[in-house]
Amino acid sequence: MSDPKPDLAELEPAELETVVTGLGAKRFHAQQIFRWLHRRGHERVDQMTDLSQSLRAQLDAACTITTPSVTDRVRSADGTEKFLFTLGDGRTIESVFIPDTPALTFCVSTQVGCAMRCGFCLTGKMGLTRHLTAGEIAGQVRVLARELDLQDSRFNIVLMGMGEPLHNYDATMKALRLLAAPEGLAVTPKRVTLSTVGLLPAMAKLSEEPWIPNLAVSLHATTDRVRHELIPTSRQQRIADLINACRRFPLKHRDRITFEYVLLAGVNDTEADATRLVGMLRGLRAKVNLLPLNEAPGIPFSRPSDEQVDRFARGLARGGVNVSVRKSRGRDIGAACGQLIIEGGPQRTVAAAP
Ligand code: SF4
Repeated sequence: MSDPKPDLAELEPAELETVVTGLGAKRFHAQQIFRWLHRRGHERVDQMTDLSQSLRAQLDAACTITTPSVTDRVRSADGTEKFLFTLGDGRTIESVFIPDTPALTFCVSTQVGCAMRCGFCLTGKMGLTRHLTAGEIAGQVRVLARELDLQDSRFNIVLMGMGEPLHNYDATMKALRLLAAPEGLAVTPKRVTLSTVGLLPAMAKLSEEPWIPNLAVSLHATTDRVRHELIPTSRQQRIADLINACRRFPLKHRDRITFEYVLLAGVNDTEADATRLVGMLRGLRAKVNLLPLNEAPGIPFSRPSDEQVDRFARGLARGGVNVSVRKSRGRDIGAACGQLIIEGGPQRTVAAAP
């Protein structure tokens, strides 16, 4: 049975005001509580020392605070750190801190597992266990900021951990609003990147939001046949429709859509692929992020040679495409793209893929 008590970590400032005034307290206490939770990363009402004893007792009795707890933490030789979080129901998820991309970046999860089943991704192999709540998504950031002592620093957030953010639309958008609130960590949309395989109805909805993050679209192929093979859930979709949706997506001055392209030897890394990619992005404010595959047991693809990656990148650049090759971070700890996986349910972390 679900807990009927409101979860304070899940409430936006206006919702928190309703709860606080419902307890007979003044509205400004909502701001104090929000700050303790989201700015300072506290997890218990008794830590909120500027609230009266009686209000703390009332809140304790009437509300809960859900916070994902860090149960493991591994640091890579390159400074990247992977965090294993345990949720209230014992499920586990992973988040990654990347110290210099060049900014500080938190890569967070939006689901336990993922339903998209991309063939090169270990998370896809897990299938979807459940969506995360807004409090659990934002909670990863507030706990990471606290653990790393970065609450007063500027950092970026990428929704590229476990899960497809647009498949968990409402919770993801609420989490972004919680993270953006000035009383909390005040992370503006400019500093957030949402990565999607391209769920078209959700992309259309996102384009209407008052709060639009940067968009990264996982393209990974230049023909429908190959894309359908790599992303089985895209089988009803044509690349042309996805690109047209990207053309309609609202972009602020100077912004671009990032196209993520995992390079798989002999599958999508040919000269013909580079030529098609140049053609399909023509006229679009775009950049391409090439991700040479991080090979892993159970992933039936291999990484192209550095020379092939370089040839592909040069082919795009010659065609006028803004292109970068992502340096793989945290491969030694299984924290690089596509390497996040929890084996056998709420338990242990293993490595491996882009
Ligand atoms: S690459 Fe992203 S969308 Fe695809 S299965 Fe992995 S987590 Fe899901």
